[in-house]
Amino acid sequence: MDLFDKCVRFTDAKEVMAAGLYPYFTQIDSAQDPEVIIKGKKMIMIGSNDYLGLTTHPKLKEAAIKAVKKYGTGCTGSRFLNGTFKIHIEVEEKLAEFEQKEAALLFTTGVLTNLGTIAGLVGRDDVVITDKLDHASIIDGCRLSFGETRRFRHNNIDDLKRVLHSIDKNKGKLIVVDGIFSMEGDIARLPEIVELSRKYNARLMVDDAHSIGVLGKGGRGTAEYFNIQNEVDIVMGTCSKSLASIGGFITADADVIHYLKHNSRALIFSASPPPSAVASISAAIDIIREEPERREKLWENTRKMKKELTELGFDTGVSETPIIPIIVGDDLRAFQMRRLLFDEGVFTNPVVSPATPKGRALIRTSYMATHTEEQLDRVLEAFENVGKKLGVISGRVVPKGRKVPIRYRWLRKGIKMRKKIKQKVITLMDRVYRYYH
Ligand code: PMP
Repeated sequence: MDLFDKCVRFTDAKEVMAAGLYPYFTQIDSAQDPEVIIKGKKMIMIGSNDYLGLTTHPKLKEAAIKAVKKYGTGCTGSRFLNGTFKIHIEVEEKLAEFEQKEAALLFTTGVLTNLGTIAGLVGRDDVVITDKLDHASIIDGCRLSFGETRRFRHNNIDDLKRVLHSIDKNKGKLIVVDGIFSMEGDIARLPEIVELSRKYNARLMVDDAHSIGVLGKGGRGTAEYFNIQNEVDIVMGTCSKSLASIGGFITADADVIHYLKHNSRALIFSASPPPSAVASISAAIDIIREEPERREKLWENTRKMKKELTELGFDTGVSETPIIPIIVGDDLRAFQMRRLLFDEGVFTNPVVSPATPKGRALIRTSYMATHTEEQLDRVLEAFENVGKKLGVISGRVVPKGRKVPIRYRWLRKGIKMRKKIKQKVITLMDRVYRYYH
């Protein structure tokens, strides 16, 4: 049998494309600003993780250019061997200080950080305990580790207690949770998790990918938000969201960092982040410190959108943060809604099962400090139009029995094709998120 046969037979994505509903790999022809250019058309971006709007900040660009001039474009080796420059050390010191921990370790991406930290720490006689909605890279880190993996129901403290109680006292234990959950925007119940981790002698790691720059008075993440910074053993962050670059890091006790420097395969065997990226991370941390008004504006935008989307009748779930899901239920409806919003000039991301529980497909929206009131009002108008058109909120643009205007006819076609396309969407998503849950 030819290994490539499965590639030839893989037509699900092509059929979703033919139905005009394919939402992935969209080409963007401008920077990751609140407005982007796609196919020559201006679109409002509410599908980005650039929470503080720093990707085009002049200080970050300038820092990156300066670093390229001094160090060139790449490191051509891992942190372990030839890829540690002075700026890598400096940024680690800055991150440790920012998070008020003894030391930090910089990886090349957030995914590698989770793989390298979890697989590096959790050995044969250890157990890693994760929330069912933790990010895929945490799940993959567990799969790579030689230890046992146990999971508890999403943000369910009783279930975490049940799991912890059932684990042999003599085993090393690591609890790993997202600080802000990336799909539904809710926050981990950290104070209660800390309490249990202490009671059961488990260490605690918090993935603050979406919380750095966003949560806490100083933007230091979930632990700062709850005022329990000393209680979290490992704070993990990515540099690809609020820090507007690429890379990932952990901050922890110096012994833990030293151990991982010599035991984390994702660190040792992957080339280190390039100078331009490292320099912009450093500049971004400075701005988080110096410009708290950005975070305030982000929260102002978040409050406006949560309030107004809810008032329009949308189900925005349990979100408490700048990630606001619009729960639409059916997978196909999420794809249709994304397409209609796109046609209205709004860029969003659909999230369907198995990344969400069945029947809880959603449009993931996320906001930036740099969105203007006018842009957000345009987004709300688009949501109202599209929500009514699809019957997600009450009222329909095309009343029953009336002739469907030409511009909506593809929708009908979509509905006719529903069963077939729905199956394609399901198998396509199963492929992408096969190991998510
Ligand atoms: N953790 C979480 C919670 C994330 O959302 C992401 C990015 N989607 C990552 C880790 C991985 O980070 P990166 O994209 O920087 O590799």
